[in-house]
Amino acid sequence: DQSLCSPLPVLGRDVTVPLVTGGEVTYAALDYAASAPALQRVWDDVAAYAPYYGSVHRGAGYLSQLSTDLFENARRTVEEFLDCREDDQLVFTRSTTDSLNLLAAALPADCQVFVFETEHHASLLPWRDARVTYLNAPRTPGEAVSTLERALADRDPYGPALVCVTGASNVTGELWPVKELAAAAHAHGARIVLDAAQLAPHHPLSVRELDVDWVAFSGHKLYAPFGSGVLAGRADWLQEAEPYLAGGGASKAVARRTDGGVDVEWHTTAARHEAGSPNVIGAYSIASACKALTEAGFDSLVAREQQLIGLVRDGFAEVPEVKVLSLFGDDAPRVGVLSFVVEGWNSSHFAAALSAEYGIGVRDGLFCAHPLVRTLLGSDPQEQGECGAPEGAPGEKSLNAIRVSFGAGTPDEHVERFVRAVR
Ligand code: PMP
Repeated sequence: DQSLCSPLPVLGRDVTVPLVTGGEVTYAALDYAASAPALQRVWDDVAAYAPYYGSVHRGAGYLSQLSTDLFENARRTVEEFLDCREDDQLVFTRSTTDSLNLLAAALPADCQVFVFETEHHASLLPWRDARVTYLNAPRTPGEAVSTLERALADRDPYGPALVCVTGASNVTGELWPVKELAAAAHAHGARIVLDAAQLAPHHPLSVRELDVDWVAFSGHKLYAPFGSGVLAGRADWLQEAEPYLAGGGASKAVARRTDGGVDVEWHTTAARHEAGSPNVIGAYSIASACKALTEAGFDSLVAREQQLIGLVRDGFAEVPEVKVLSLFGDDAPRVGVLSFVVEGWNSSHFAAALSAEYGIGVRDGLFCAHPLVRTLLGSDPQEQGECGAPEGAPGEKSLNAIRVSFGAGTPDEHVERFVRAVR
């Protein structure tokens, strides 16, 4: 198909790993949902900039000026990538987890928070100090909207409220009805933050069109290195809140008071929440990845990824023991993330065998979404257990699942090898 692009060049393409059966094989990284390999283009951009890097917003030195320009240009590039509104603010953070914790720290007093129990722990847990309502797992996108509407209709209508929702599940890969959920939130005077950790790398994303108030994602899932993330959206709550971290960069002016204390005037720009020396390489690499994805074109990236999903589905269709996990039904639209169990197999042993015998890296466990995976496996969502806790002997009921995930850098051969191995 002419509309499909080739896999984008990524780091680690030629890494070989030993097999227990003897010999070695190039590593098939099929755990993009955890961290995607960095694009070669991002690495090249960073290497070209590295000799020039200096601290951001730190004076007249040439390299500091250059780095400040790159940092602020990176902010604009990512704002464009997300199609932000005029007066939105984009804060560079460490990760999606960091972004959502920042927003949680900036909630107005008495804010009510609504979150589905199906969320990744990064979106499920930061709100524990607020008044949180956990919503039951919906079994259709329509039920997600009606569940939220019912919960919001019952809320205290005068106080502030926030809905937190994922764009694409890190477990099932399924797309959530974000636009409809945003409309429901707004109809009830609530705001909404989109956890786009799994959506942004796989799907075009417009803050304006989805009409979400904030969006959060991580660089390391979007083909950039670790250590940087983004929170973008409405400025008011962020600027009314205390700085996330107190320190240089966030403060505009500091003076001793006559009573011995200090007075601080904090910035009212994104810098308010970027105290300390900003991660300019991180911001620059996210911007570089955004440009590379935009240039490759999401239409062809999505088409290619859907073709890879088709390969997996066709392969699975020949193995009746494989059960794909899904909330919204087998045919629900999804990004390149699929979790499954294999009847008669311990999921952790299965994943270990894929690695040791085929050089394939997938994830096994509960994927930091324990209540969701337990619901999908038909066990008790209230049970406690560790991420990746081992199961009993093969043949026992699955307590864990296996996740395969891929993206813009995945060659067909990796997915074909995976399908062969599962068969
Ligand atoms: N949300 C979702 C949907 C995720 O998949 C992840 C990472 N697995 C996160 C949030 C957290 O991202 P990070 O670990 O980069 O903070």
